[in-house]
Amino acid sequence: MSETFAFKAEIKQLLDILVHSLYTEREIFLRELISNASDALNRVQFEQLTNHDVLDPEAELKITLTPDEEAGTLTISDTGIGMTAADMEQNLGVIAHSGAKAFIDAMREAKNGKSAQDVIGQFGVGFYSVFMVADKVRVVSRSYQKDERAWAWESGGDDTFTIEEAERDQRGTDIIIYLKEDAKEFAQEYTLKDIIRRHSDYIAFPIYIGEEEEPSNKQIALWRQNPKDITEEQYQDFYKMLTFDFEGPQHHMHIRADVPLQFYALLFIPGSAEQNMFSQRKEPGLKLYARKVLIQEYCTDLLPEYLQFVQGVVDSEDLPLSVSRESVQATRVMANLKKTLTTRVLSELKRMAKNDTEKYIEVFESFGRFLKQGVTVSPEDRSDLEKLLYFNSTRDDDRDQWHTLQDYVDRMVENQDDIYYIIGDDFHSARRSPHLEPFRRRGIEVLYFTDPLDSFMVMGLTEYDGHKLRNVDEADIDLTDIGQAQDEADDAEQEPVAEGDFGTLVARFKAVLGDRVKDVRESKSLVGSAARLVSGDSSSNRNMFRINRLLDKEYELPVKTLELNPRHPLIHNLTGMLGSGDPRMVDVVIEQLFETALLQDGIHPDPAAMSDRLLVLMQAATGTPLDRLNLNAVTPVVAPAAEDEGVVEGVVVDADDDAEATDDD
Ligand code: ADP
Repeated sequence: MSETFAFKAEIKQLLDILVHSLYTEREIFLRELISNASDALNRVQFEQLTNHDVLDPEAELKITLTPDEEAGTLTISDTGIGMTAADMEQNLGVIAHSGAKAFIDAMREAKNGKSAQDVIGQFGVGFYSVFMVADKVRVVSRSYQKDERAWAWESGGDDTFTIEEAERDQRGTDIIIYLKEDAKEFAQEYTLKDIIRRHSDYIAFPIYIGEEEEPSNKQIALWRQNPKDITEEQYQDFYKMLTFDFEGPQHHMHIRADVPLQFYALLFIPGSAEQNMFSQRKEPGLKLYARKVLIQEYCTDLLPEYLQFVQGVVDSEDLPLSVSRESVQATRVMANLKKTLTTRVLSELKRMAKNDTEKYIEVFESFGRFLKQGVTVSPEDRSDLEKLLYFNSTRDDDRDQWHTLQDYVDRMVENQDDIYYIIGDDFHSARRSPHLEPFRRRGIEVLYFTDPLDSFMVMGLTEYDGHKLRNVDEADIDLTDIGQAQDEADDAEQEPVAEGDFGTLVARFKAVLGDRVKDVRESKSLVGSAARLVSGDSSSNRNMFRINRLLDKEYELPVKTLELNPRHPLIHNLTGMLGSGDPRMVDVVIEQLFETALLQDGIHPDPAAMSDRLLVLMQAATGTPLDRLNLNAVTPVVAPAAEDEGVVEGVVVDADDDAEATDDD
């Protein structure tokens, strides 16, 4: 009366790889099956607390390994939640495991079998990993639900599996593994003991081997122990077991609190922000226990969103045990836990920043973006978060030197009251920005905000310690009395263009650029550059633009004011050309000057599209007569906004659409 089912295509591929794998660390299958058994025990424990009608309520919650050397089998049994026939078909017939999916994807890309063996150990392939060591597997299981009977699932790791009725008096699951000829060592007690010690010591339920009366694992709730008794290695192992990360954590926090809440927490800052793509712990959230009973595997209500990179466990003495997962959230205890944990994590980070800055910088380089997000989304924590921000600065122009806002304030020059920053797409281009010229000249430090998240951060971070934060591209920044101008003498050598000629040139700029600029005017601060774009208002508009671009959404190019440097040779040349009666080249240069300014601010929607114009300019520079150049073909990349649609504040650019220019046709 057995029914035969076909595995889904994905599983066939996976099985094929596993069955034929020569992978040397096959023992991980045991870790996977024990972890499944432990999950099943957790789940039945929870059912017992919330739903009292459970089969075998008195059964000890345990895992038993029964090796049989003669028969060449290993049986892994648990008194967990069990499976119905439908559960078996569903759970052991499709790939539930994200790790397994990632594994198959990686295998598809891998060209040969050798790489398969290299990567196999890095994936949590779950239940199916048993086929690395098994010729055949039989799963006999009985659900915790009283009116269900026992069922058996069986497969030889080929294309199909069967499900049939079976006998099992107690609730729980047996996984009977018929070991491959070359995997018989897994039927030896001492081999099993050794593996359990290395992989499963922290499993919360006892694991018995054979007839032995003592469990083979220590079942330590590490977080409930005295930190003095725990070695660094134990913390590392625990973290790896929790997250399945291969790297250790950057930092751990072992917290024990008594008043007003009693709880234990063991929190970790992971090794890197790059989520290990094979990590089983894909979702954010801490493991929440109530008096050692697992209540929620991924609890996101214990820390604010911006701290969700923190991993670990929290074990509360105050949470009622018999609450449903849904109502846990609503309790006062949870709100208090969250508050306490947040404060603890933030003060630990501050402590680290102060006492071990080097280590903190590493953490910041991995997770600073989360903190920057917090500055804007969690104003209640801003005063703590501000102290945790580090930036590069024009003080040393060094990518590896980090400065806090406080460092900056402590170094402000005479009469300086505001904190200046420059926003750019990357450190290297921001460093060459014309906006920095007047600041450098007066010895005023500017912070580099070149992380994509910085645009978002400045929406919340408008002030620090009473000092306004100001973008160097703001039009009305007046540095006259601040700091001290160096090399003023140089200025005097360069004569500005005559006022009237300059007026004609400005008019020409306005005619060519139209709505794309708010205004064109003389710059009082530029030294070595010919032009720059300044922002008239400090509205969040230009920050939104960067954020939308980051999110690949439709965005509006902010319309700015173009400032020209009347002393610059290029401006002299342009004025000359306008006066000479052949101004054809002037418009091309105006276009290019404008787009170069966009580029320098890191807001050019499509830099590659400038190449046609650059080619024309190079031809002109190398001697091609103007008549032979197709100057009309050099259309602006950033087209003027369509007036009849009433778009005056900006030019809409569709990020998905290759940043094509919008046309008013
Ligand atoms: P994962 O454990 O990540 O979900 P697996 O492939 O290891 O993926 O297992 C698939 C599913 O089979 C599990 O989610 C669970 O529902 C079920 N399962 C596996 N082992 C057991 C067990 N010992 N008791 C009850 N259910 C189990």
